[in-house]
Amino acid sequence: MVKMTAILAGEVLAGENLRKCGPSCVLVRDGRILDIISPAEYEAVKNESETIDLGSATLLPGLFECHNHLALDAGLEGHLGMMELSECEHTVLALNGLKKDLLSGVTTARCMGDRNYIDVKIKQMIADGRVEGPDLLVCGIGMRARHGHGFVGLPHSGVEEFRRTCRENMYRKVDHLKIFMTPGTPAASPEEFIPCFITPEEVATAVSEAKSMDIRTTAHCVGGRGLDICIRQGIDVIDHLYSVTAEQIKALENDFGGWVDMTSGIVLDEGREAFTPPAQNVKMRKARPYSTECINRVYQSGKVRFTLGTDAYHGMLYKEVEYAVAGGASTLNALKAVTVNAAEMTGLSKEKGRIAAGYTADLLAVRGDPLEDPHALSQVQFVMKHGKTVRLEEKA
Ligand SMILES: [Zn+2]
Repeated sequence: MVKMTAILAGEVLAGENLRKCGPSCVLVRDGRILDIISPAEYEAVKNESETIDLGSATLLPGLFECHNHLALDAGLEGHLGMMELSECEHTVLALNGLKKDLLSGVTTARCMGDRNYIDVKIKQMIADGRVEGPDLLVCGIGMRARHGHGFVGLPHSGVEEFRRTCRENMYRKVDHLKIFMTPGTPAASPEEFIPCFITPEEVATAVSEAKSMDIRTTAHCVGGRGLDICIRQGIDVIDHLYSVTAEQIKALENDFGGWVDMTSGIVLDEGREAFTPPAQNVKMRKARPYSTECINRVYQSGKVRFTLGTDAYHGMLYKEVEYAVAGGASTLNALKAVTVNAAEMTGLSKEKGRIAAGYTADLLAVRGDPLEDPHALSQVQFVMKHGKTVRLEEKA
């Protein structure tokens, strides 16, 4: 019989509400969580298990990075100009990025568009154990308009062009369909016009194609008319929302059954300016005050269901949790946005995203208490994916 692994930690955040269990032992076998037991109960099983003692660390579910790209690395200067590199170069970027993600505690990542279906291929290689990385959810080719934004996307015009790519993506077995509604940079004020590049008919085509195959749709959308269309047409997940108005928040609260996926660092993290073009940085700086107001509307709503992603800033997901908390979300909701709730948004809530018996043994241990201080998420001590240890630091 395969030996159990017994993981001892000073604190365990368990179940769908990340309940604090105090000093506990999590038992793992065959890639799954068997049980959460007390230190006294551990004494009875310690001879039949292999023990990983994490000391005073806090054990929580492995994280979900909800907005990733494989061939983009937002920590490299000039990364936005790298979309025309070769498939080989993209693959190397992908493997480096995925390694950083995994070692930071990300055990599941939602990919939001890459070229040449490298996301589909790498997802399979990870599942087969040929390459190390988080489990992936992929979208293949992102669909943008000829005149629209979307570095990683390809141009489309008219419902039949959208339909063709939807079906090609679904033939390749993607998990969701991605469209680019608006520019990438946010508005600097409520008066600034936000273009919308995709028509309601084109959006409806993607939604209907996805529904036919029981997969989800997701839209890059900073705000404006594009956001109204996404809400009305029933897009499942809306990403970014840097320019969402108070009125649109009401519509998201009352008329929208889906999720929003926030990527605040793109606008708020001044450290990322080193890696983006000067002209874009000027626009971002101008938009920062109004965007902060808009982004915080989501965090403060309490009713808009949100998840978090970095937009390919590999290994830096903890920063998004910090931005959510700084913007007014409770630490519990911010942590759930990268664990329990992210699992629900991606349709994986019955197998991933929480520490509970029967769930996949995707685990992260950090020094400190992330429910008190989200920065603790950057202090990684241990990462396990599918019951296999991928990182183990000396205990503090
Ligand atoms: Zn993106």
